[in-house]
Parts: sequence; C-alpha cells; structure tokens
Amino acid sequence: MDLIEIKARAKINLSLDVKAKRPDGYHDVCMVMQTIALHDVVSVEKAESGIEVMCNNPVIPSGNGNIAYRAAQIMIEKYGIDSGIKINIDKRIPVAAGLAGGSSDAAAVLKGINALFSLGLEQHELLDVGKCIGADVPFCIKGGTVLAEGIGEILTDLTPLSEVSIVLVTPKINVSTAWVYKSLDLDVIQSRPDTYAIINAIEKRDIDMLAKNMINVLETVTVPRYGIIEEIKTRLVDLGAAGSVMSGSGPSVFGVFSDAQKAKNAYGEMKDDRWDCFLTHVE
Ligand code: ATP
Repeated sequence: MDLIEIKARAKINLSLDVKAKRPDGYHDVCMVMQTIALHDVVSVEKAESGIEVMCNNPVIPSGNGNIAYRAAQIMIEKYGIDSGIKINIDKRIPVAAGLAGGSSDAAAVLKGINALFSLGLEQHELLDVGKCIGADVPFCIKGGTVLAEGIGEILTDLTPLSEVSIVLVTPKINVSTAWVYKSLDLDVIQSRPDTYAIINAIEKRDIDMLAKNMINVLETVTVPRYGIIEEIKTRLVDLGAAGSVMSGSGPSVFGVFSDAQKAKNAYGEMKDDRWDCFLTHVE
C-alpha cells in the first residue's frame, strides 16, 4: 500500500467550561466533545523524500506552518521512517471556526502513517504523539462522544450519541482563539454547564435534557462582541432545534435536532450570505 485516504471529522463542543487559567498560559477545561459527519479528506502517500502538503483551500499554509506537516515530521523522527511523505487535504471543514479542522487533519496523518508503514502503534501511543502536536489532537484521534479535562488531553469515553441531526452555521467573521481566551473573565461567568447532567442525558438519550444543558462559557466573550452569534442561536431554536450553542472559541454555532426532517427544514430556512450552513449529524 502506497496511499491511504482518511476522513478527518470535525468536532463540536456540546459543552465547554473553563475551570481556571494556568500560569503557563493554558486553561483547565471541562468539555463534552462530539465528532460530526462533516469531514476533510486527507490522503497520505509514500514519496521519494521530504514532506509535502497540498490543500485545495489557498488560505491554509502548505509548508511546516500546516499542522499536518508537523504531524508527519514528528512521526518520521520518532519512528525513524526512511521515506518521504506527500499529504493532500481536501478541505471541507470551515477554517478557524471552532471545529478543530486542523487538529483532525493532524490526527488523520498520524493514523495514516501508522497504517501506511505498518508501525502497529496502538491508540494510546498515537494519543501520546498527538498530545505533542496540539490540545485537540488526542480527541480527534479517538473521536466519538468524549469528556475532555485538563487542558483537553485527559479523555474519558462516554456513551456514544447517535442519530442526532446537527445544523451547523459558521458566520463569515474572524474570531481569534487567542483573543477569546485572553478576554475571558472567569468572575463574570454566571452559568456554567452541568457536566454530570449532560452525561446523564447522553446515557438516557434524552436530547431535550442534553440541549437544555449545552453551555459554552466562551460565549461570555464572543456574544457581546458579535451579535450574529446570538442571532443564529435564536433562529435555530425558532426553527425547532432542541438547543443551540457556540462550538469551541467560535464563531461556529450549531443546533441539535432529534428529528431529522425538522433539521432538514431548518437547514433550508437558514440559508444566508452572511454564513456557511451545513446539515450534518453526530458520528
Ligand atoms: P480549534 O477549535 O482547535 O482552535 P479551529 O477549528 O478554530 O481549531 P483550524 O481550522 O484548525 O481552527 O485552524 C486554525 C489555524 O491553523 C488557521 O488559521 C490555519 O491557517 C492554521 N492551519 C494550519 N494547518 C491547518 C490545517 N491542516 N487545516 C486548517 N487550518 C490549519
């Protein structure tokens, strides 16, 4: 085998709480993360020499500025791989949107290289490599429905959610992740997610209870600054979503629907030049 193609799925945060700011600049978080069907397609191929990254989206860096490049580099160094690697990313996940598109590409490269060179690495070994690349990479390796704690690297598998439709809306605005975390004032947060209630709702497959408990504390920064986020949340709920919340540091917002037809109708009604909209589902 000289080439492997892998789906790099996007993630959403069903909840996101920040417990503390750490002296090293990182944050202690507690979040329930979920992969969705929306994905990039990452192909990893053996090559003569060097690492090459190509992407159909011109805003994505092609050299070592690409997180997928760094994933390949670390695997080559750590496992003494004597070959070049060519990576092609068919980018479908909105960029810098709170959906971990880059982290998911990196996770796909780790898995791809493991398979292509028959390294036989187990998931826990890939998770250790992933940690060195980025805080969201370990989750992207695992996928599914997961509780993430620490700086996002302590992962606990939860009962997998299934058959939940998602309408995902990414407004065409730039929101800097660094700015969001820097601006976060832990003292002004009034409502925090009840993670226990969320886990309980997932176990019982109670989508209404899950939706009622979806809270992202980073909205305390983004919502006052970008009115469009609240506008999208309100519209999704008016169109029948059981609940709606921002993903990660934004600006993507999603609505959850237990009824696929309702989600399809909402998607049809949400079309607008000010944002990109996707009809997808948890996976
Ligand atoms: P997170 O939620 O983990 O912060 P995000 O979804 O907000 O991630 P990404 O789409 O992963 O953000 O991209 C963040 C930045 O990383 C972009 O500005 C982009 O230029 C850069 N980048 C590097 N490699 C990639 C990649 N393979 N895919 C997307 N962005 C990449």
